[in-house]
Amino acid sequence: MFALTLIAFGLALGGLESGSNEEAPSQVISLDLPERHAFQSRPDQAGALMTGEVDISADISPLEEWEEITVRKGQSLDGIFRQQGFSARTLHEIMALNDDTGQLKKIRPGDLFEFQRFDDNSLKRMRYAVDEARYLIVEHDGQQLHASTETRDIVTQTTETSGSIDSSLFLAGKKAGLSDNMVMKLANLFGWDIDFVLDIRDGDTFHLIYEKVYRDGSFLRDGEIIGATFNNQGEKFQAIRFEIDGRSQYFAPDGRNMRKAFLRAPLNFSYISSNFNPKRFHPILKRVKAHNGIDYRAPKGTPVFAAGDGKVIQSAYSKFNGHHVFIQHANSIVTKYLHFTNRTVKKGQRVKQGEVIGYVGSTGLAQAPHLHYEFLLNGVHRNPRTVSLPIANPLGEAELGDFRRQAAPILTQLGRLESASMYASSSP
Ligand SMILES: [Zn+2]
Repeated sequence: MFALTLIAFGLALGGLESGSNEEAPSQVISLDLPERHAFQSRPDQAGALMTGEVDISADISPLEEWEEITVRKGQSLDGIFRQQGFSARTLHEIMALNDDTGQLKKIRPGDLFEFQRFDDNSLKRMRYAVDEARYLIVEHDGQQLHASTETRDIVTQTTETSGSIDSSLFLAGKKAGLSDNMVMKLANLFGWDIDFVLDIRDGDTFHLIYEKVYRDGSFLRDGEIIGATFNNQGEKFQAIRFEIDGRSQYFAPDGRNMRKAFLRAPLNFSYISSNFNPKRFHPILKRVKAHNGIDYRAPKGTPVFAAGDGKVIQSAYSKFNGHHVFIQHANSIVTKYLHFTNRTVKKGQRVKQGEVIGYVGSTGLAQAPHLHYEFLLNGVHRNPRTVSLPIANPLGEAELGDFRRQAAPILTQLGRLESASMYASSSP
């Protein structure tokens, strides 16, 4: 079953099959732009298109070539115009046209500009992707320049899938039609409850309802997860999307926030090379020395994240610890990170959970690249893998009611997915 959802970026969209049904905003002249998509049409044809009876292919003007310019690092719009041989006056006029062209003050490396010229090489049309849903279009009609913003067709489609793990989560995800990016989202969603390196077993299953975003009729990117079930070693975990203050967050069916105030592991690691052990025999020092943290093996350069919001109380180099960072958090919790190849934060700096604070290395007393990670509560070392972590932003009473109403149909859909896949796997 596909549920289709339209995201209207300021415009009412319609005609899913036709892909385009844009009404021109009032200040826009008919640009008769060359379109890349076969189903796109001039605004005046949109009505006819809806009937599906008009052969539009014969009616579209021949494609005019766009010259594509990708903004390079350090490049200004001024520089681009000069490079293209357009006059400074043209740029001046464009910037003075209307509020839309103010977007041009915020260009970034990687942004795309497209140009068309008149025979004398002066600017005829310019197209700039303001964001994934909008083009800024500047056109010279022979008399003067006009600017307008064109909204592109963005359609979000809900889809669902199930998977069963027999070797790795990524392979199972691929089989279920998920992109690596969506597999990462799934892993991150349950990453607070399930350790995806150590806890995953053959036979674990997942069921997922998520969004796919299409632009002008073609797949653009994955959207958000709407709801998910993960069965790990016989234990069921579920997460449902719920919007608070315009931001999507995820909650368990009982209203518990999936997110905790601390990351269980502050990096994506390969394996644990040394566990928390107060009586460990130290491999380099050759004597019993408590191992007050966890050693996470990961390739040199793997980013390490602040486990929770806090303030950097130390960022330094020492003989034993190498490049290291200590963070003070709320509730008398301190986290420590050792052996970085380099640090990216300074003492006194505030950090957010998930912010990169340095990169895995083997500086100081370390045999191989790894992160030594410590978790201290009231000055006492605790095992970061097992210490119970404070929950972030629980739902209030009022929100809980809303959440339950929204979650009910999603949980029903997840339940149906799960029964369907159990039936499928039990029949030959
Ligand atoms: Zn260690």
